[in-house]
Amino acid sequence: MQPIHQVFNQLTESKKIVITTHQKPDGDAMGSSLALFHILVALGHDVKVISPTNWASFLNWMPGCKSVIDYERNTAAANTLIENADWIFCLDFNILARTKNMESVLLQSKAVKLLIDHHQQPQLSVFQYGVSDTTKSSTAEMVFDFIVGSGFDHLIDDNIAQCIYAGVMTDTGSFRFPSTSPDVHQMVAHLMKRGLKHAAVHENLFDNFSENRLRFIGNTLLNRMEVFYEYNTALIAITQQDLIKFDIKTGDTEGLVNYTLSIEGIKLAAIIIDRGEERKCSFRSKGNFDVNTFARTYFNGGGHYSAAGGFSLEPLEAVVAKFKTAIAENKEQLSSYTF
Ligand code: 5GP
Ligand code: MN
Repeated sequence: MQPIHQVFNQLTESKKIVITTHQKPDGDAMGSSLALFHILVALGHDVKVISPTNWASFLNWMPGCKSVIDYERNTAAANTLIENADWIFCLDFNILARTKNMESVLLQSKAVKLLIDHHQQPQLSVFQYGVSDTTKSSTAEMVFDFIVGSGFDHLIDDNIAQCIYAGVMTDTGSFRFPSTSPDVHQMVAHLMKRGLKHAAVHENLFDNFSENRLRFIGNTLLNRMEVFYEYNTALIAITQQDLIKFDIKTGDTEGLVNYTLSIEGIKLAAIIIDRGEERKCSFRSKGNFDVNTFARTYFNGGGHYSAAGGFSLEPLEAVVAKFKTAIAENKEQLSSYTF
């Protein structure tokens, strides 16, 4: 993979461009993809954003979101776009398997593939150009760097500013995680000086949920949470019946994994959700516990040091049992707490 700046001088030659991201895109995946979409459209390219799957409805307000193609719903049209693309930007994921059913068509495509991502251990061999930086708070911040680095800072408008802000804000837990560098605050100051209304972005993202979702969270914390103080760990396991009973949609469980980290002493927070076709796991940690390695070792997954995920095809009870075995095997790390 060659450094991304090598394509900067080609950005003004009109191209057919596809932007894609990981399945079930979150705020950073969608925000970074749409920010890049707007800048490339402004530069005169023919650009389409393709999401491997559907996404949470709380992202629909983002400028440009309505034009995003859901690969699972429009597979044939999306395949044609991928086959005919000159460039394919891959944002906010490290391995093509994170694009679920798009993986094979992406691999077959003759398009130049470009990576912009901040996850560990990227699949470098499939990208011709790219930037992979695990110290970055978010892919949205990296898209900002891409825009500024390529000399198009003056094209950052309100739409782009909102998309970048949404991405960095969601991926840093509202500027709380250690990844929130001075550069992040400087970038936000820059966007605000351009007129960004940050409070509106927070409201759009966090104050648009259903009553059901709040009741679901109440039920989850009351009845589905287990705390293992000897391992500084808390686990939430959610059944399919819970999802049906509370009419839980894609994105309604976003952020739920973080709640238990607010319990004093808890260092590892985990959630396992029975989504029917698979059991999806999310892990978050504070201090010196590496959930990227944990997710890779036990749950076919990966991610970052303090936020990672994975999945299992075994029944929920078996995945919960595996989790308990896994924390017992990591007892030494989990019980020694240092920041
Ligand atoms: P989340 O728990 O919010 O789904 O994901 C947390 C982090 O872990 C994200 O950065 C995401 O990219 C990564 N991640 C989540 N699920 C998987 C997975 O199944 N495989 C891999 N490799 N990474 C994952
Ligand atoms: Mn991200």
